[in-house]
Order: sequence, then structure tokens, then C-alpha cells
Amino acid sequence: MSYLQKDVQYIKGIGPKKSEKLKSLGINTLKDLLYYFPRTYEDRSIIKKIFELRDEEKVTIKAVVTSITSYSPKRNMNIVTMFVKDETGSAKLTFFNRPYIINSYKKGDSVLVFGKVSIKNGNIEMSSCEIEYLSNSPKHTCKLIPVYPLTFGVSNSDIANAVNNALDSDIEIDEYIPRNIIEKYNLCDIEYAIKNIHRPVSKQALKISLYRLIFEEFLVLQLGLFIFKNGNSNLEGIKFSSDTDIQEKIEEILNSLPYRLTKAQKRTLDDILSDMGSNKVMNRLVQGDVGSGKTVVSMIALANAVVNGYQGAIMVPTEILAKQHFESFTETLSEFGIRVEILIGSLTKKQKDVVKEKIKNGEVDIVVGTHALIQDNVEFSNIGLVVTDEQHRFGVLQRAKLSNKGKSPDVLVMTATPIPRTLAIILYGDLDISIIDELPPGRKKIDTIAIQTTKRDFVYRNLVRDEVNKGRQVYIVCSLVEESEVIEAKAAVELVEDIRERYFSDLEVGLVHGKMKPKEKEAIMEKFRNNEINILVSTTVIEVGVNVPNATLMIIENAERFGLSQLHQLRGRVGRGSDKSYCVLIFNSKTEVCKKRMEIMCETNDGFKIAEKDLEIRGPGDFFGTRQHGLPDLKVANLFKHIKILKLAQKEARYITGIDKNLDFKEHKALKKEILEKFSGVIDNILL
Ligand code: ADP
Ligand code: MG
Repeated sequence: MSYLQKDVQYIKGIGPKKSEKLKSLGINTLKDLLYYFPRTYEDRSIIKKIFELRDEEKVTIKAVVTSITSYSPKRNMNIVTMFVKDETGSAKLTFFNRPYIINSYKKGDSVLVFGKVSIKNGNIEMSSCEIEYLSNSPKHTCKLIPVYPLTFGVSNSDIANAVNNALDSDIEIDEYIPRNIIEKYNLCDIEYAIKNIHRPVSKQALKISLYRLIFEEFLVLQLGLFIFKNGNSNLEGIKFSSDTDIQEKIEEILNSLPYRLTKAQKRTLDDILSDMGSNKVMNRLVQGDVGSGKTVVSMIALANAVVNGYQGAIMVPTEILAKQHFESFTETLSEFGIRVEILIGSLTKKQKDVVKEKIKNGEVDIVVGTHALIQDNVEFSNIGLVVTDEQHRFGVLQRAKLSNKGKSPDVLVMTATPIPRTLAIILYGDLDISIIDELPPGRKKIDTIAIQTTKRDFVYRNLVRDEVNKGRQVYIVCSLVEESEVIEAKAAVELVEDIRERYFSDLEVGLVHGKMKPKEKEAIMEKFRNNEINILVSTTVIEVGVNVPNATLMIIENAERFGLSQLHQLRGRVGRGSDKSYCVLIFNSKTEVCKKRMEIMCETNDGFKIAEKDLEIRGPGDFFGTRQHGLPDLKVANLFKHIKILKLAQKEARYITGIDKNLDFKEHKALKKEILEKFSGVIDNILL
């Protein structure tokens, strides 16, 4: 075991009690401690003469004590007043409730003082002071002081002291970035970086250290993703034909649609068809905002596989969505002799067996399904294209499992969670991405308003009523955070009863929640689709994909509980037809962050912008849900601020994996170990 793995408890000056505190911050080992970086720094490095001091500034002065007194205006209150001077003037210092000061300093002492200046009537005062004797190695003044992220019961000095103790005991941190990279990018070594990020000897030293650590974070993240992405981009795959008769068939299908593809859809489809026509395995991500029309693009791609004599499959995260795709595919494709089937968990065993048999014998051309598709006993006769819809819902393993059902079929993944450009660069690197950045014509902007819970009554009595009177339908999404799904379901039922009684006794109100059987859910959705239900109350199960164009009002209760991208997804359930649609966010929080988030939602309908903001507010781990995808945390690197360094690191990562795919070279060993550690336990869940 490396000594960096030593329990913090055994570092000098840290006993079991302090180590308990540190552990609550996730600091368990010496290494954790050394990598627990300051959140920011207080700049105490500026030293001024007293006559130079300005009102409100925080600075350090070098002075001599001229007088010191103390008094207690009340019980439990003590004020020490000290006057100091330098050759340019004098200042009054005030210390609240620090009675020991009077015993530590006396007239004539040379001191260093850091504090906040206030000037009243020409009198200079300093408060919130740090004071220490003049020396060559000041501890609390004259330099950058780290400010650590804290938690209840752990103070900044707890951490600073622990770090100081660790750094003072002859540490040696082995370098893991290969020498040639250090030289190429002019990086400082790891020991220098770690020492100076905690105790910067100068601003310049801090800058150099940060640069190195940022570069390192990006390099590790990028290399990790490259490695675990199993780099199959150059695998030999199926070369689908694009002869004229095939092209004609595709044209025919396109012409049978009730609309023309948008430019963005066409461009994306061209990308896909050209990938399919090459002999490399396709690995393409289609990214498009909700409602941009990804489904039809995937349908044509699947049809292309079929007219080439192969089978295709599309995997979606929910049964509702599977049903929906199954119906729309059948509607368009059956007249062209393309056989579509559905495979979902709620079919009876007998039904499933029939479908599986057909898949195996090649009596099915396209299968739409849920996770049921990747069961071990599903065998394809000759699968050529695998599509995953709403790909962020699936882990890598699940996708890989589906691909493994054939001999390197082409792979298409679609997501409506727009991944900000900056993040896409990291996550997908050289993976091919097509972006559908255009909505079908005639869509009107969804007007969004955000209101406090107190105004909810108005929304229900007026807005909902108005829409229903116009013959439109309404979604009400409630996020019930109950301790279990069962209790949540119960709460949802109660909520619906309450709403029905109070507002809508004359209307049809339906409910879907996570505890319902798929059949029940589907029955309700079917009714909603047929406009037999006016108002659909739902927990978040409707988030992805559901398409009911007659629904024009989306109400989201407790909107503060959702991430911005999730709100955007939910909002995307309306605005799918040609009628003007609305979204009402009902929130119950008075925080600034909540206000800001609501504002963003009201301002823009652009999923990319929203995702960028979301990422900015929450950081990449949270953005995707660390649990799901397990990207290592970025501690110092920032995807927005450090894009240049990101690109350098990415270039280097590409070069390294180019010459040493799995980092097996001796000089890459230490780096690989670092990567494995950072990605530990999450390898299966990395995005691609
Ligand atoms: P998403 O990208 O969110 O999966 P869908 O594929 O569900 O979006 O498409 C949303 C709606 O837009 C569907 O009703 C679909 O029929 C319709 N649609 C798709 N492409 C076009 C188009 N080019 N013109 C008009 N409507 C379209
Ligand atoms: Mg979709």
C-alpha cells in the first residue's frame, strides 16, 4: 500500500476525533487530504503603508503597537482596541471576543495585521483582523490564504492545519504524468503543484500549479473515456448498399410521410446513410431537442437496413414509448411490406415467445422494445442496425449487449438531453455526432410562466379551464418525494382525488404513476391520446418521448425539485401540434438559485442553452447524475473557462491512445493507475 493511502487519522496532529470530521468531507486518506483543494483564496499578499489605505479594502499592514486596551460592554462580550502606527500614519484595530489578544501583544511590538479598512472622518480603522508578530515567515498574513469547501462542524483551520501537518512531514508524491508530456506542455511536477495549491508561495506559483492540475484533470478524464469507450470506431462492419433501387425505396417511404423532413433532419439522415454505406461500423450520436423529429430519422435508417436485407432494432426506455414508436412505425412501414414487432416486458410469456421465435427466424424486420430486447434468449437472425432512443437512460453495458446480438451491427444513439458542446467534446471526442438543430415548421414557442405555490388556485381555475374549454388537453406533473414508490403512488392518488373534487368534478382526470402496471399505464395513455381524458396527472414517467399533439398546457408542480434539462424535457411534451402551448412552473422556494433557474426556463426554449446553464449551475457530475454515469469530479478544471486547456489535453490523449491503446507502455503505467482509480466502479456506466 502506498503511504498516500494512509488513513488521515495517523497524520501528525490529527487524532481520531479530527479524522472523523475530515471523513465527513470524504477525506479518508492522506491522498484525499492532499487532493482536497481550496475553493478559493483570500488574498492577503498586498502590503500597504497606512497612508495608502482605502475605505473598504482588505490589506496587510506592517506596524508597531502604540496602545492596547480591553473592556466588556456586556457579559460574554469583550472588545480589544489596539492602536498601531507605521512611519506614515496610525490606525485603530478592533477585535471582538478575542480576549487573549490583550495578553499576547503589548506596546512596542512589531506586528503584521490583515483586516478590512474603514475610514470615518479621516480616522483609519481595521476590523475582522488577523494579527501576528512580524517575522520572515508569517502564517496568517502577507500571502494567499486557502479557503476550503466546508461542512458543518469542520472549520477552515481544521483543514488548513491538517494539510499543513501533512505537507510539513516530508511527503513525496510520485509523478504520474509521463516526463515527455510534462516537458512538452511546460507543466510543473505534481509535488510542486500540490504544495502550491495549498500554500502558494506566490500568485505566479499558484497559477502554474493550477494549470498543471487542470491539464491533468482533463487528461485523466479524456483518457479514461477514450479507453473505456472500447475504441471500436475502426471495426469492420456491414456495408449497406445505396444502389438506385434502394435509394428509390427510401424515397418512396419518405414521400409517404405527411410532411417533408426539415433541413436538419435531412442532413442527419444523410450522415447516417453515408455511415451505413461505409464498411466501418457506424457509431453515431444524434442529438436533437425535444420535438425535433428524431424518431422518423431513426425509422428511415432502420428501413434502410431492412431494404438491404437486414433486421433492425430500436430500444427505448419505457413501454409507453415503445408502444408509440411501434404504432407510428407500423403505420408508415407496413404498406411497404416491412414487418414491425414489439417486445416489451408486459407481454405474456406466450406472446413474447412468439415474437422471439419470429425474430430468430427472420420473420420480423424491425423490433421495437424495451430492456426486454437485451435478454439473453433474444436471438436475431441477422441484425444490421441497432438504435437506442433517449440514450442517456441506458448504460454502456446495456447498449453493448444489444450490439453483441449481431456481428458488428451499426449503432445509432439518439438523445434529447442536449449535451452542451463543451461536454460533448469530452464525452464523445471523435465520435460522430449529428445535431438536429431545427424544429419542424409551424411550431410556436411555448410560453412559460413561473409562479409561487400560493397562486396555484388561479392556474387551476382559469388556465386549465380555458384550455379544456378550447378542446385541448393538459398535463399536470407532480414530483412527490415520498420515502417509497408505494407511498408516492398513494400520495399521487390522493392528489388526483383532491384536484378532481376541488376543481374538475365535471372533467375526466387520469393518473399515471410509477407503481402502476404497464398495462394500466398504457390504457390511461391510450385514453389520453384519444382525448377521452382532459387532464393527465402524472409523476415523472411521462418525461421521455410521449407525443400527444393536442395537449397544450403543461403544469409542473414543485418545479424547484427538477433539473433544468428535466424541466425542459417535461415542457417538450406540449407544443407538439400547431396550437399555441403553455407551460406553468409552480415553485415553492424563495432562494436566489431557484429564482434564477425559473427565469432561465421562462426566457428560452432552446434546449442547448438550457443545458449549458444547467451544467454551469450544477457541474458535470450532477448534470448527468454521478450515480448513473460516474464521471470523475472535476475539482479545478472548468469546462467553460478552460476550454483551451481541454483541447490540448484532448489532443494529447488522442495521441497517447493512438500509440498505446490501453496504456500498457511502461511510461504510461502510473497514469493508467490514476485513471483506473478515478473511474473505479463506474467503468460499466460510462456514456459511450
Ligand atoms: P423527438 O425528437 O423529441 O423524439 P419526435 O420524433 O417524437 O421528436 O417528433 C415530434 C413530432 O414531430 C411527431 O409528431 C412527428 O410526427 C413530428 N415531425 C417529425 N418530423 C417532422 C417534420 N419534418 N415536419 C412536421 N412534423 C414532424
Ligand atoms: Mg423521441
